Amino acid sequence: MGGVRDAVAALRAAGCTVAFVPTMGALHEGHLTLVRRARAIADAVVVSIFVNPLQFGAGEDLDRYPRTLDSDLGALAREGADLVFAPTADEMYPYGAVETNVTAGHVGTLYEGASRPGHFDGMLTVVAKLFHIVRPDIAVFGQKDAQQVFLVRRMVADLNVPLAIEIVPTVREPDGLAMSSRNRYLDADGRRTALALSEALAAAGAAAGDGLDEVLAEAAGAFGDHDGIELDYLVVVDPTTFLPVDDGATGRATVLVAARVGGTRLIDNADIELG
Ligand code: AMP
Repeated sequence: MGGVRDAVAALRAAGCTVAFVPTMGALHEGHLTLVRRARAIADAVVVSIFVNPLQFGAGEDLDRYPRTLDSDLGALAREGADLVFAPTADEMYPYGAVETNVTAGHVGTLYEGASRPGHFDGMLTVVAKLFHIVRPDIAVFGQKDAQQVFLVRRMVADLNVPLAIEIVPTVREPDGLAMSSRNRYLDADGRRTALALSEALAAAGAAAGDGLDEVLAEAAGAFGDHDGIELDYLVVVDPTTFLPVDDGATGRATVLVAARVGGTRLIDNADIELG
């Protein structure tokens, strides 16, 4: 902990601006795109790798979450990351359970928060801790986790956290599947089935000019084309409030989707222009 603080302090003393990329490891091209963006907008890049127990619920995949530290470190060295912070759970939570945490508000109880109670409190708490440890000028997040982006932005605004937030668009496989560490859980059938999410978003985009009902109907239809997938939520939200848009809404909106393929929960989202 002191090590990373001192190292960042030394970078700052050398006149470097610092961009920070928090991750849970099992790095893929999506993460590495965040690292490249960080390098482009700051003098020095710090990446954290920490599978945060606080944001996993009972019965979720904390124990089997992929951990690939050696290859992650190799990839980050190739990308020119200046510092990697990969603490243990004991280092991050020396007292075990936290006595103090960051609590997401109403939006944190919706969508991902409804399916994963406490997830966003755990996420915001570790992000706040990491911000205090690293003290970056800029923190870089992926649009892939749109609700996370909304909530981190709000935490930064609500608590006057002194840094800027930079968002990177979702990086996809050539066939449209959003890259995710959890894609490793999918077998060949599951991998094909998982395309329902990006297909639903494409259908939503194509129907956007026809209004909300058409968007929802067309997007839901994409799930009918696949077996072995269970839709969790499909919702169109106002990106400024993250609340569901009203019937007849027009303008920019964000479609959120989550589904379960076998034991694997996948999420995706896309912006559309409602007509
Ligand atoms: P994770 O390791 O899943 O916690 O993700 C760490 C960061 O990488 C978060 O800001 C994610 O939104 C971002 N990220 C994950 N997958 C992608 C992707 N496919 N495209 C862009 N960013 C991503």
